Amino acid sequence: MKIYNSATHRKEEFRPIEEGKVRMYVCGPTVYDNIHIGNARTFISFDVIRRWLIASGYEVTFAQNLTDVDDKIINRANEQGRTAAEVAGEFSEKFISVMRAANVMDPDVRPRATKEIGPMIGMIKTLIEQGHAYAAENGDVYFSVRSDPAYGEVSGRKVDELMVGARIAAGEEKRDPLDFALWKAAKPGEPSWKSPWGEGRPGWHTECAAMVHRYLGCPIDIHGGGSDLAFPHHENECAQAECAWHEGFANTWMHTGMLLVDGEKMSKSLGNFFTLEEVLEKHSAAALRLLMLQTLYRSPLDFSWERLEGAENSLARIAGTVKNLMWAASHAEGEPDAALAAKLDRAVIAARDEFERQMDDDFNTAGALAAYFQLVTEANTYLDQAGSAVDADVCAGCAVGIAGALTILGIELPKVEEELPVGLLGVAAGLVGYTGDDVNEAAEKILAARAEARAARDWARADAIRDQLRDMGVVIEDTSAGSRLVVKAS
Ligand SMILES: [Zn+2]
Repeated sequence: MKIYNSATHRKEEFRPIEEGKVRMYVCGPTVYDNIHIGNARTFISFDVIRRWLIASGYEVTFAQNLTDVDDKIINRANEQGRTAAEVAGEFSEKFISVMRAANVMDPDVRPRATKEIGPMIGMIKTLIEQGHAYAAENGDVYFSVRSDPAYGEVSGRKVDELMVGARIAAGEEKRDPLDFALWKAAKPGEPSWKSPWGEGRPGWHTECAAMVHRYLGCPIDIHGGGSDLAFPHHENECAQAECAWHEGFANTWMHTGMLLVDGEKMSKSLGNFFTLEEVLEKHSAAALRLLMLQTLYRSPLDFSWERLEGAENSLARIAGTVKNLMWAASHAEGEPDAALAAKLDRAVIAARDEFERQMDDDFNTAGALAAYFQLVTEANTYLDQAGSAVDADVCAGCAVGIAGALTILGIELPKVEEELPVGLLGVAAGLVGYTGDDVNEAAEKILAARAEARAARDWARADAIRDQLRDMGVVIEDTSAGSRLVVKAS
């Protein structure tokens, strides 16, 4: 398996530190608002990476933090007249539930910054003792960037280049403009904790370094996040951990690309800013994931509602093919054409091999999906050519192969509607004297009879129709496009 290491700008053969095991950390959100789809892209990408590592036989330990104390949370709390803890609590819960709705697996460990103050203070003390950090008069503690000769290794920046434009802001007591805060002295009304340097709170970069060390142990195999975190956040995490413990920090750095909306940077002022929650109100998690995975995780991704609609249609087409294959397998009649069946069987194996090859090549989901889009086309051709004389085993194997590959990526196929029961013929006969044998036509007649009853305010009759249908497992779905009968999901 090869993974692109963004610290070395090369694809490298992946060799875990401990054989068969992967320790992985992905920076979580600062919980002051709902996450947007750009954030969601990062979390979905790493969910797929984690799923592929597991499918490849690795025992993966995945940790992700919640930054529940930060300037943004404090500002939001002040705006709304609430406490920082209330704001952080609300958006932590919302994050966890929207991630589940997006079919992102829960992390194995989910530390919260406010519960990790002790380990962070311990790390800061170690850094001060070793001459990598210093406490200022006002109670702030800063990391001394120039004390770390390796500084810049994650993001590829050089210390002297960083000096351009670097300055010390009002109220900061840094010795060097490049230094960054490990601990911030409390301002009145802010959440704070006791420390050897007085009441205060940890800096953002501090928490991830301390949590990686505490929950996974340094170094880890994979550290990930959005590309906007590479500098300064990841650079600073790495500097602290390496200077405190001298064990290395992360062997492979992975960064996800930016998400654009209709080719433009997403921003509230442009009106093209969407939260994950609002996207999932309109579309399935599977379609959003399918759209995202058609682009390599580290390339820019173009989101649009049209593309999402397109992904929804692709999913329905794939689900239809899987259903047709299963149906054909259970209704096979006559002697199958061996050559045609062998051709589809070879295509199933080729798709599986190509999927694996693409996923092992830096998680190239776009290539992996293309292999299965191709197989869907070949399966449809086979069904057309073979008619009812299909090879049941090959059809079933193909259906399982397609659905299984998508499941590995975390894409659940939509349930294809089941056919309406023939019992509807009897209902239509009783209601309107229908004598035909077309179940769909009978459904139309029943719906018309119900609409007529409702128009006449004959609620007893309308309810009786509904109850009769329910008895045979059929429900009426009233949609903006009209009413229809569907088999009740079991
Ligand atoms: Zn982090």
